[in-house]
Amino acid sequence: MDTPKYKRVLVKISGEALAGDKHFGLNFDVIGPVCDVIKRCADIGCEVGIVVGGGNFWRGVKDGGGRMERTRADHMGMLATTINALALSDALEQRGCEVRVQTAIAMDQIAEPYIRNKATRHLSKGRVVIFGCGTGNPYFSTDTAAALRAAEIGAEVILLAKNIDGVYDSDPAKNPDAKKYDRLTYMDVLNQGLGVMDTTATSLSMDNHIPILVFALSDPENIYRAVTGEQIGTLVKE
Ligand code: UDP
Repeated sequence: MDTPKYKRVLVKISGEALAGDKHFGLNFDVIGPVCDVIKRCADIGCEVGIVVGGGNFWRGVKDGGGRMERTRADHMGMLATTINALALSDALEQRGCEVRVQTAIAMDQIAEPYIRNKATRHLSKGRVVIFGCGTGNPYFSTDTAAALRAAEIGAEVILLAKNIDGVYDSDPAKNPDAKKYDRLTYMDVLNQGLGVMDTTATSLSMDNHIPILVFALSDPENIYRAVTGEQIGTLVKE
């Protein structure tokens, strides 16, 4: 059996990654393989926390901007993350994985409220914990929620599963000569405005010394590769 490189990780999965080609809603042909891999990570003894985005249903600024009050639009985005958290938890349970959903905004009938000590207890018992509602506050992103929860639960790394296989010096979709970085510092990301995470999330990770590994979710096996320490994607650290 493989040995995990990290005892505890925080996986950030964007909402859009759960939608597949349609870029909206939930695609269970995408979710299934992702959950297969997450279960395998748990089975080798890696403690997995997940922060899930909501962009496959609603993003406050993009979808509500100019037409809605920002805070209310962000509330809708946080509700969207909860839909995704419930879908992921169901798919994990179907695979025999023990899982709990905790939401930053209380929704007692459908999920546990976020309580840090309860979350870490679940994790140490081998349960996957999915964090819904981002930080619970408007004007933040689920990337920032990932950095925050990673710090709170003592995750050794943030595994940032994206729709691109790492960080490039320019957009590889537009520039065929775009160069992929293997390694960057937080300051490189902030100074060069590289689109890894938003600046709030990046600086929170930097302040708490939590490395960020950026890789593509299109091959879900990448999550397992990351957990077992294979060199993939782009690593952002000091
Ligand atoms: N959101 C928020 N506070 C948070 C996290 C998320 O208000 O702490 C809202 C915000 O409107 C955001 C939406 O939820 O646009 C969905 O999150 P995000 O855009 O980060 O999802 P992703 O792009 O990862 O799918």
